[in-house]
Amino acid sequence: MNTEFVIQSSEAESMAQSLNLPSVIHLLPHLVQSAQSLARPSISNFHVAAVGLGSDGRVFIGVNLEFPGVPLHHSVHAEQFLLTNLAVNNCPRLLYLAVSAAPCGHCRQFFQELRHSSSLQILITNPDQKVNFDFNPLSQILPNPFGPHDLLDQEHPLLLEEHNNGLDLLPYNDDHNHDLNKLGNGYCKKYDFDETLLKNSALEAANNSHSPYSGCPSGIALMDCEGKVYKGSYVESAAYNPSLGPVQAALVAYVAGGGGGYERIVAVVLVEKEESKVRQEDTARLLLKAVSPKCEFRVYFCDSIENGSLKIAG
Ligand SMILES: [Zn+2]
Repeated sequence: MNTEFVIQSSEAESMAQSLNLPSVIHLLPHLVQSAQSLARPSISNFHVAAVGLGSDGRVFIGVNLEFPGVPLHHSVHAEQFLLTNLAVNNCPRLLYLAVSAAPCGHCRQFFQELRHSSSLQILITNPDQKVNFDFNPLSQILPNPFGPHDLLDQEHPLLLEEHNNGLDLLPYNDDHNHDLNKLGNGYCKKYDFDETLLKNSALEAANNSHSPYSGCPSGIALMDCEGKVYKGSYVESAAYNPSLGPVQAALVAYVAGGGGGYERIVAVVLVEKEESKVRQEDTARLLLKAVSPKCEFRVYFCDSIENGSLKIAG
């Protein structure tokens, strides 16, 4: 477990005690400045960090990621990283967060995917002032929100809640990958690409995908040159544009899991539905080409399981 991006509750408590702080909540703004150094803003050089307290007492770090070579909307904001970090580590709820810059409009909207989003407590740190403990609810910086409540039933699972999209892989996938480039990765001369492991991991990520608005779930699994696998699930926003793609989600898992430079990524598998209104394949290839040009990329299609057997779309 990489402790830079996830701090266990006991460790967080002892850190707060050693700083003579009354609680872990007060520790969050103290951690923001050092967390900023973990950001990868290779276009703006503007380092953002968001430090959050989960309902299980763990402290999670989020930072911004930027990707030279592709349009700016591929960027991952620190708040999106933070929520993805909680999701990857199965934390069910974010209670408090301290962030180094005011959350942008997209992030205020992205937070709407959380149940009880209006009561999420946010503190914006100011580098020119002493650490303050001025937490305020999200509803204060985004009154009259548009969100899941406008589009979904109350019972629908929201972000960080358990999802099972009931998907399984389709049998005819090999045809689709026949024409895809197989480049290997120059960084790692020899590696065993365990395709079954990657396929199943990407399917698992697709089954956890929060995509209630389009009904087009997807998931990515990527493998580094040491054979370690990282998973990312596509996350939709009710307002569409702030949605987070599956490659970005997997890159968050990679960075948070101590994955190092992107050139160490050797193989990537995307699982999504073939006949769907929202497809990730082309965008995923574009982004992967920018971050790890030599990695092998494969796509496998899935569909819903009905009564124990696959329901083939179309
Ligand atoms: Zn933002």
